[in-house]
This record gives sequence, C-alpha cells and structure tokens, in this order.
Amino acid sequence: MTFNPNAEIRSDNVSAAGGGGGGGGFRPRRGGGRGGRGLKLGGGGGCLLLVIVIIYAVMGGNPLDLLGGSSSPQGQEQGPVAEGSSLEHCLTGADANERDDCLVQATIESGDSLWSQLGPDSGIQFSEPQGLVFTESVQTGCGAATADVGPFYCPADATIYVDTTFFDSLSSQYGADGGQLAKMYVVAHEYGHHIQYLSGSMQGADRSETGPQSDAVRLELQADCFAGVWAHHAANTVDDEGNAMLSPLTDKDISSALSAASAVGDDHIQGEVAGGQVRPESWTHGSSEQRQAWFTTGYEQGTVQSCDTFAAGTV
Ligand SMILES: [Zn+2]
Repeated sequence: MTFNPNAEIRSDNVSAAGGGGGGGGFRPRRGGGRGGRGLKLGGGGGCLLLVIVIIYAVMGGNPLDLLGGSSSPQGQEQGPVAEGSSLEHCLTGADANERDDCLVQATIESGDSLWSQLGPDSGIQFSEPQGLVFTESVQTGCGAATADVGPFYCPADATIYVDTTFFDSLSSQYGADGGQLAKMYVVAHEYGHHIQYLSGSMQGADRSETGPQSDAVRLELQADCFAGVWAHHAANTVDDEGNAMLSPLTDKDISSALSAASAVGDDHIQGEVAGGQVRPESWTHGSSEQRQAWFTTGYEQGTVQSCDTFAAGTV
C-alpha cells in the first residue's frame, strides 16, 4: 500500500474514455469501470497483446511515448479530442491502492501538488496537465492513438494518456516487478514530459536523430529524472485538505520503479522482449542502464537542475 487511504484524490483534470472503435466513432462512457471492452490478458486476448507488443518493439517502438512534439495545435486538423467522463469512483487513496484508474488519477494529483511548487521555484511557469484513462483507442490533440503505443503525453492538448491494461503488459511482457511504484513511475514519467513542455526543453530538442546520446534519448531520460524528482518528494505531496498523499517510499518501492525503468529500456525491448538485435543507433528512449541511472539521479537530488540531460557530456 502506498497511498494514504484517507487522502482525497478527487480531480477535475483526470477523466476516463474508452472503446474508441473505428471511423471516428468515439463515444464517452461513464465510469470507465469494469466490464469494458479493452484488451484482456489471458486467452486469445493475451496472445494478441503479446503479438502487438512484439511487432511494435521490432519496429523500433517503445512504450512511454511522446506524441506530436511541437506545441502547435494539430488537433484541429485531426478531429476532435476525446472528452472523458469523471472517474467518480476514485475518491480516496484507498481507491488508488485498489484500482489502476484511480492510481493514475492519484499520481497525477500528487504530481500537481509537487510541481505547482517546484515548477515556479525552478523558474517554470506551471499549469496542471489533464489526464485521460482510456481503452482501445482515443482521439487526442496529437491525432488518433491506440492502446498498443502505451502511455503517452500529448503536448498539443497538455494531456497524459494512459491505458491501464498497459500495466499488465509492463510486468507480464516487459518484466517489471508489478509493484505499485512501477505503475506510478510510468505516470510520473509522462508528467515529466508535461514539465518539459512547460519549461521549453521539449520544444528545444531536436528529435529527428536517434541513438544513445541523441536529443530524443536525452529528452526521455530527463522525463525519467523528473519521475525520480517526484519520487524524492512524493511523501511530502498533499491533497486539497493538506493530508499527505503517500506514505514514505520504501526500498522495495524504489526497486519497483527501477524495475519499470529497466523494463522499458530500448536495449531490453529490442533484445529480450522482441528477441531481435539490439541496435543502439535506433534508440529513442535510452538503455535500461541509462533510464535507471537518470531516475536515480532525480530521486537522490530531488531538483530540476539535477535533470539537465542536455548539458551532460554523456548521458
Ligand atoms: Zn517518454
């Protein structure tokens, strides 16, 4: 258990949408609860998901993506952005300890508590991101997306998108340890992209090149470092009433976060997950070692300044 069971996690910023279907037939669904039509693990669905994950990985994909990349409002040309319904069943930390959609909401709320202070303290003009928990497919300001790309951040609508079925594949296919902090690391990483958007480091990066020292990788490692910064301060984040949102993180929690950072390393995905060749020149997110190292830097230092992956000689 990591969230304080009594912490309030209500949010106007985080909502649910699902069952996108084809042909622009998006339709909001209330509650976003069980019985949805999302991919299920086990049986044929599990095989399908595995195939999708492997094909995606072979093609050089990496979950925890960043879509779009510019701040231009591409959404106007690419159809309406999905409007979700509120996660009405996510009320307290106890709900977040039990349900993944509530965990996403609570982690974003915890991020708001931290970054609304640390952002301005670090010279970043802060505004809260939106969050959308979806299944199958979703319309975003960066265009249409399906669940198989994994969680992502879209700068055009400043929204963190998470399909919670990814948390199952994070452990079953990618090899994270399945702990709560592994999931929260994913959300905190996407929140890190929001901070990069606000700070301008996202817009300043040249993401046309790939490779272990490329801007693309430095951008992803900085998001990992920001996730570490969040972990450093997580126990001090508070809800609207001033109650602590999380209990102090344990060594086991940190090891869960590191297991997730390692699981989504490009070398691990290309080699052990996809069973292919490891091609560093194609990396977009960094190796398992790089990702763990930068999460650790953020966790140990707890400052925005410690996460300047663009100033570092080698990352
Ligand atoms: Zn990312």
